[in-house]
Amino acid sequence: MYASDTTDSISRCAFARITLANVAADRQHTLEQRVTRSAEAVLAERKVVTAIDVLVGLGWLTPARVGEWRQGRVDYLERVVTVDPSKLSTAMRLFRRWAQRSGLLPSETAYVARSRDRGALRFSTSGNPNIERAYRTHWVSREFSAIQRRRLAERQSRPPELVVISPIKDWTCTGCGGTGSLLLLEGPGPMCLRCADLDHLVFLPAGDAALTRRAKRESRLSAVVVRFSRARRRYERQGILVEEAALERAERNCLGKRAT
Ligand SMILES: [Zn+2]
Repeated sequence: MYASDTTDSISRCAFARITLANVAADRQHTLEQRVTRSAEAVLAERKVVTAIDVLVGLGWLTPARVGEWRQGRVDYLERVVTVDPSKLSTAMRLFRRWAQRSGLLPSETAYVARSRDRGALRFSTSGNPNIERAYRTHWVSREFSAIQRRRLAERQSRPPELVVISPIKDWTCTGCGGTGSLLLLEGPGPMCLRCADLDHLVFLPAGDAALTRRAKRESRLSAVVVRFSRARRRYERQGILVEEAALERAERNCLGKRAT
């Protein structure tokens, strides 16, 4: 009686363990399906898919948070991912396996901050080089030719433009407590152009595309100026900030071109 009870409870335990293992396998299976769905959707649209795309697709990361990280306002990306590390690393592994099985080609991409120092962005809590590389690797469709793939890699590795905001509300600089007509969002909060070391730049209003292009090319440092339009509910380009000497050179160049 006693013996049979024990056997019974042992088998019940074993059964419970098997069930738990099944549940874990099911969960992984579901996660794999979600990772696959998310990755396939992006691939179908853009023919290239990144780990960040998948995390956004899974709802673990918002585009707004990615934007803050790209501005250098978040020290590493995993800080703003909303799932626990083990689930995250499982998803990263599943994504890589899916990409390899799908025959996609890996392309390592530079991630540079949209900030004045153009620093390399960090992804992971640990900073482990292999994990960092996994995030930096974009997976590209074989539908692209070798030349197209190289151009794509160049475009995606290019540092993003600095963005300066022409604010529509009152604001206070986190550096000096002052204010101004333009601000830079970087680090802990808004900064005036003097605190951001951008006050030597001059404003060139949008409108002359050729002059804008030249001035930007001539200038070692430049920024796009945007202002939020309440009517259109989006940020709109107002012009650019460039070095004064660069603008003068560009103007001379454009005048010379137009005179001839
Ligand atoms: Zn300031």
